[in-house]
Amino acid sequence: MNVTEIFGSNVFNDEAMKNLLPKEVYISLRRTIDTGAPLDSSIASVVANAMKDWAVSKGATHYTHWFQPLTNLTAEKHDSFIEPSGDKVIMQLTGKSLIVGEPDASSFPSGGTRATFSARGYTAWDPTSPAFVKEGTLYIPTVFVSYTGETLDKKAPLLKSMTAIDAQAKRLLRLFGIECKKVSTTVGPEQEYFLIDEKVYEARKDLILTGRTLFGARPPRGQEMEDHYFGTLKPRIAAYMRDLDETLWKYGIFAKTKHNEVAPAQHELAPIFTTTNVAVDDNQLTMEIMKKVAKRHGLVCLLHEKPFEYINGSGKHNNWSVSTDTGLNLLDPGETPENNRLFMLILACVIAAVDRYQGVLRACVASAGNDHRLGADEAPPAIVSVYLGDQLGAIVDSIVLGREYVPKKAIPGSIGVPESPIFPIDTTDRNRTSPFAFTGNKFEFRMLGSMASVADPNIVLNTIVAELFSEAVEALSRAKDFDKECKAFTEKLLKKHYRIIFNYNGYGPDWEPEAERRGLLNSKTTADAVPEFFKQENIDVFVHQGVYTEKEVIARANIQLENYIKSIRIEALTMIEMARQDVYPAVNGYLSELCGTIAAKQAISEKFPVGEDMKVAEKLAVMNDAMMSAVAKLEKDLNEMPEGERPASQKMAHVVLPDMEQVRRIVDGMETICSSDYWPYPTYTDILYSVK
Ligand code: ADP
Ligand code: MG
Repeated sequence: MNVTEIFGSNVFNDEAMKNLLPKEVYISLRRTIDTGAPLDSSIASVVANAMKDWAVSKGATHYTHWFQPLTNLTAEKHDSFIEPSGDKVIMQLTGKSLIVGEPDASSFPSGGTRATFSARGYTAWDPTSPAFVKEGTLYIPTVFVSYTGETLDKKAPLLKSMTAIDAQAKRLLRLFGIECKKVSTTVGPEQEYFLIDEKVYEARKDLILTGRTLFGARPPRGQEMEDHYFGTLKPRIAAYMRDLDETLWKYGIFAKTKHNEVAPAQHELAPIFTTTNVAVDDNQLTMEIMKKVAKRHGLVCLLHEKPFEYINGSGKHNNWSVSTDTGLNLLDPGETPENNRLFMLILACVIAAVDRYQGVLRACVASAGNDHRLGADEAPPAIVSVYLGDQLGAIVDSIVLGREYVPKKAIPGSIGVPESPIFPIDTTDRNRTSPFAFTGNKFEFRMLGSMASVADPNIVLNTIVAELFSEAVEALSRAKDFDKECKAFTEKLLKKHYRIIFNYNGYGPDWEPEAERRGLLNSKTTADAVPEFFKQENIDVFVHQGVYTEKEVIARANIQLENYIKSIRIEALTMIEMARQDVYPAVNGYLSELCGTIAAKQAISEKFPVGEDMKVAEKLAVMNDAMMSAVAKLEKDLNEMPEGERPASQKMAHVVLPDMEQVRRIVDGMETICSSDYWPYPTYTDILYSVK
């Protein structure tokens, strides 16, 4: 395969635009893409026609406005290019069809912002994210808004948040005498996933309906041997990854790194970072393609945050940074950060934003799936904190505690291998346990779940940091002695928000009580985390930065709670069905065989021991009965749901989930003593080692 040739071959990228558009049209479109200047509508029909010709040459017959409703998934409705011409057809894409679409919005979640009688929704072309051809259709990335102007998707607020941070960062830079056309945030999302054989998948109703296993006893071999992480790729996995890379490259996605993850059957893919909205689109497409490519290989790709108990779940590390179009990375500390006024101010703003809006950051990654992960011992805890590493940690300590800062020089080449060429060792060590870690020239927000859209955390990050930037500008724009006042403002922020900094082990037992002492939030469930969005000060930041209206914040939080309630309901119903229809009869089947054996043994001779048979039979009989009672309780609690998202989500978190846990414990106990001939499902061992 010739990678440089296939890369981006399905994308209407800069090269295609340059080749296929008249020069003035190209320049005008480029200006919109690069600087966010409004689109000149007179060029739309020319762009549309060129795009259509290009797409048709790639075998496309249809086009679709591709959008991201509030579901974590993408949506599409395909229209063909055909236009009658006498008794024949021509292929056509008008400027208007490129720019706006009008899908019926009534069946997409809106959280009550839109009554069903006003079903109108509009999709509008987002020229900053490139169009592409996939399976015979031209995909046009769009934003999705309602007739009355409320946003109904994740893309519109993401773009607004990018505009907000662009505007505020430029104001801030101007105070330092730095001019630039555009400040953008960049994102590189590392995506974790599981691959299992489709045969075992097909035999698990829970995986099919809920994406995770609701039952499954602890397998004899889990991840304790630590042999899977970075381990040799099995041939089927290697073939899958190769096919995946090739497919992603055709769509212009910078798939870069691939490796086995910690848990058996778990893997990771990391792309090279790019502008945030493109990174979000690319990640949506990556998740979709991961699943499709898996099918071609007789595999199933699981993107759920916690498909299996006892082993690690999957996350998505959101690497985030802010840079100017002139190539300045605002999070690059340089050689001597302690003397870098701009960097220290930016750092203080980020730290302050994360501390003040910690509740929102936690809430924006909350979901039924991710609750199983945050707080378990492979993921960051549910408590938001910031890790700065040795160097920045020491600088901030010295400022806050009034100590002298003694720079620790990067030590050249002391990795202990004499043959190794001399190279400087990083000044920050890695910290795998922090939810928000500084990693050289970017922050890595690690709380995001594997299935979630990358849009949400970036909307929040961009907005809250823009807010702090704007406060800094307010505070410093009339400064008489800028240098002195900037230093003082930075110190004030660092002192005030010092509590959010935690440079140690976030999994350790001491952190929870320590965090509580510091007054940090620790919401372990979605039901407890999401209501942070209803607090006035948290609503205000979105309104102030022009990202959401108050109504939109509330609507989105309600949708998040609704999704949580619905997900758990589906899981509970699936569990009830599996327990009653599969587990109960299976255990009874084995019991009956066991009882038959006991009776037969006793009939032949008293010398035949039946003690152990009796013990197992009795245990199973008692447990199967207890399981049915636990299932009945679960069903009853599920049927008595209070009205309203908040009370219902509370009941799900604190009554239904514990009920489900109770059923699971009994079923998993029975699995360990029931004959495998009778057990109705593939076990964890069968699933996790299904790919040979
Ligand atoms: P690390 O090993 O510290 O995690 P990597 O270089 O492997 O760092 O990068 C991890 C991810 O972070 C990759 O997806 C990479 O593209 C992304 N990344 C690197 N620099 C930036 C940046 N300036 N902004 C956003 N993401 C970045
Ligand atoms: Mg990383």
